[in-house]
Amino acid sequence: MINNLQEFIEARGLGEKDFSEVKKITKKFTCCSAWIDQDQQKISVGWEMGAYGLDTNTKELNYPFKIEDFWTVLDNIEKEVEQIWRDTHGCEDCDIVSKLHGGLHAINPDCKSCEGEGIIL
Ligand SMILES: [Zn+2]
Repeated sequence: MINNLQEFIEARGLGEKDFSEVKKITKKFTCCSAWIDQDQQKISVGWEMGAYGLDTNTKELNYPFKIEDFWTVLDNIEKEVEQIWRDTHGCEDCDIVSKLHGGLHAINPDCKSCEGEGIIL
């Protein structure tokens, strides 16, 4: 189990020297540019949803936790961001209105116009 910041950095196994390196690497290696923060009790991870017109979302891991739990949280964030992208970035020909956001188009994977790629808002 991880009980403090030092143990967290070691458990990541990425050779980071301090938390500022953890921040940099987390941002660089997540597709959604996740941010990470910490205090005595916990590690917080989140991502900016500004580009999607949504509020920032945050997940917290209170000590003690397992490193697997941290990776799961990060993984779930990436999946969630991908889902939100799909729900809001379709083109007009996709012809699916987003459940998440009325008026926005969700991506139709079979759409011929955007080939299931959607568009950037
Ligand atoms: Zn389309």
